[in-house]
Amino acid sequence: MQVQWYPGHMTKAKRMMQENIKLVDLIIELVDARAPISSRNPDIDTLGAGKSRLILLNKADLAEEHWNSRWIEHFKEKGILAVKVNSKKGGGIKSIQGVIQEACKEKMERDRKRGILNRPVRAMVAGIPNVGKSTFINSLAGKACTKTGNKPGVTRGKQWIRLNRQVELLDTPGILWPKFEDQRIGLCLAMIGSIKEEVLNLEELAAHAVSFLNREYPGMLEDKYGTSRCEDPYEALAAIAQSRNCLLKGGEADIEKAALLFLDDFRNGRLGRLTLERPVKEEIE
Ligand code: GDP
Repeated sequence: MQVQWYPGHMTKAKRMMQENIKLVDLIIELVDARAPISSRNPDIDTLGAGKSRLILLNKADLAEEHWNSRWIEHFKEKGILAVKVNSKKGGGIKSIQGVIQEACKEKMERDRKRGILNRPVRAMVAGIPNVGKSTFINSLAGKACTKTGNKPGVTRGKQWIRLNRQVELLDTPGILWPKFEDQRIGLCLAMIGSIKEEVLNLEELAAHAVSFLNREYPGMLEDKYGTSRCEDPYEALAAIAQSRNCLLKGGEADIEKAALLFLDDFRNGRLGRLTLERPVKEEIE
């Protein structure tokens, strides 16, 4: 299945990102907790060289708790501090300021030794589209804080959100681009709803998601829709159509409607918490 991308916008995004990255000490990288590999950007390690780093497993409420913890351990083993958050409901947000300071500990220590005191750490949020960057910034900004900068004649353009005396956050997130060339990643992002719907064959995508559930979460589909197990994903979609009354005029199953309904349930956690990618060594290296 071909997944189409939108690299046009990404060129501009990349330029902005490169510009903004120069201004900050810390990159707060948001990934989707359900797919922390596919939702990461391949170039972030190069782009962020020399900067402090923090990974947020966002939408942690939609992923399995057990795997969230495993991912946190996994990133820790790679030397990157990672924490889980639910930006929508504010879960984990309160403790974020402490975590940010923790991530910048070395930088602050270096400053102190050089006699630089009271210079706030500057941070930016980055991530691929739809991982929850704006939701996170709003959630954090709602808890703090006064905006700084942009006073007439003083600063132009950039707005900083003052989280506390030690930390300032750039109010616009850096948009990163996904790994365009890998179809597996495209599918994974499509399943979690990070790619525009119009460019996808929804039935094929839904069939793919059904197969994933049959393999990794046996029984989940049947529990949700009261259907019996079908190995063939299209038959499973037809059964969902019957059970949810998605029927065409002649009483035939409306697979397209069922696919839409099912994908919406899948993406929004109504089937249960789902982790699509698990930490496996060879996938990461
Ligand atoms: P951005 O493109 O990275 O800025 O993403 P947005 O902030 O616009 O969020 C994309 C979608 O994800 C929105 O529908 C949000 O409500 C939703 N979202 C963001 N964070 C979370 C979260 O932690 N949990 C859940 N369940 N949904 C979230």
